[in-house]
Amino acid sequence: MDKAQYKNVYVFVEQREGVIQNVGLELLGKARELADALNEKVYAMLLGHDLTTQAQECIAYGADTVLRVDAPELATYVTEPYAQAIYQIIRDNKPSIVLIGATTIGRDLGPRLSARVETGLTADCTGLEISEERDLLMTRPAFGGNLMATIICKEHRPQMSTVRPGVMRMGQRDENRKGTIEDVKINFDKSKFRVRVLETVKQTKNLVDITEAHVLISGGRGVGNAEGFDMLRAMANTIGAEVSASRAMVDAGVLGHERQVGQTGKTVRPDLYFAMGISGAIQHLAGMEESEYIIAINKDKFAPIFNVADLGIVGDVRKIVPLLTEKLKR
Ligand code: FAD
Repeated sequence: MDKAQYKNVYVFVEQREGVIQNVGLELLGKARELADALNEKVYAMLLGHDLTTQAQECIAYGADTVLRVDAPELATYVTEPYAQAIYQIIRDNKPSIVLIGATTIGRDLGPRLSARVETGLTADCTGLEISEERDLLMTRPAFGGNLMATIICKEHRPQMSTVRPGVMRMGQRDENRKGTIEDVKINFDKSKFRVRVLETVKQTKNLVDITEAHVLISGGRGVGNAEGFDMLRAMANTIGAEVSASRAMVDAGVLGHERQVGQTGKTVRPDLYFAMGISGAIQHLAGMEESEYIIAINKDKFAPIFNVADLGIVGDVRKIVPLLTEKLKR
């Protein structure tokens, strides 16, 4: 393999019903940094149908070129047509780096693509950098988060990585940025299409996106049960916060998985994070330690959560939270 033939940083910019997902914009910001370090360009791969202003958005967030594939086959996400389209883009353009959001769609797409182009894929990266040899250093937690592994794809190209939503910081939107939009035509092999979307049924449950919240009140085993979380909700309502949880409480069925913070939940970065009765296991910290300001309440003064907290209160959450809520109401 002649690595010199492979150039530029490509991002799969995921859209759903025409709305670009934040992770796509976050990856464009990271791609910009990597491409600048390599003195190369950022390409956004935008797939869908009846696309309108999304390509311009990609440019505003850092893309130099948008490869837009607008086709009825891509109206909703189905693995095979999406994989075929991106495979053709990779085959024809030879990118050096391909970044994909580790959403349910990205997790489905990433491995399939890396197998087709015969390269490696590092999943759930938390750090991406360029080495002195111009290789991509892909860092991710290993062994249950107990150590960080940096993986290099030395022999193959492209270097592929998935990154979870919220891990990379979104760049500044710049409406005046200039870039080019190229419409790409894909020759689909429809004989390989084995899945058809007959109907889309939306989950009616009111799903919140805790990664978007400015203030999160997170409860752990110390909060205990559903009544304990009612107490957190009452506090959240007084300050317009959202409630989230450690895995212990999600496993106990007290809150849905969409509200779990941590390695196997979501990575959050709110302005203010309350850790209530959460011990601070490494897998929990992995999802919240980048929060702007952390307040922890725990009855054990040696709880590891205090190592990352800006303000620590040693005490019983069941006593402190109602008092705090009363104060905040006033
Ligand atoms: P505990 O560790 O049991 O801590 C409860 C805390 O509450 C204690 O510190 C205790 O002192 C305190 N407490 C008890 N009563 C009170 C009270 N009345 N007032 C104040 N404080 C009180 N965990 C996650 O959170 N997110 C993940 O994504 C995640 N992914 C994982 C992935 C893997 C591969 C593995 C192995 C584990 C993962 N975990 C994850 C689990 C993690 O290791 C911990 O088990 C979990 O975070 C513990 O949750 P907790 O802090 O709520 O409970």
